[in-house]
Amino acid sequence: MINDYFVLGEFNAVCFECGAKKKSGQLVRHWKGYYVCPQHNEPRHPQDYVAAPRPPSMPPYTQPPSDLFIVTNFPPAVPYDPNAT
Ligand SMILES: [Zn+2]
Repeated sequence: MINDYFVLGEFNAVCFECGAKKKSGQLVRHWKGYYVCPQHNEPRHPQDYVAAPRPPSMPPYTQPPSDLFIVTNFPPAVPYDPNAT
């Protein structure tokens, strides 16, 4: 192989993307954790760092609404007729 040569402190490694045989010092760490050639390295997408919007804050206290009674003592609009069909 062409890349079979000795470099002190390094070892042969394979690019995770293209499979090319390189020395370990020539590969860079991908954000997913594996090692690739520098030309195959891609930065992490900025949308991965977007935080979800925070939910609206709650009021300090709440209480149920009080019942509202409306007094209706008005006479009916139509007088009651018991013989009506
Ligand atoms: Zn590669």
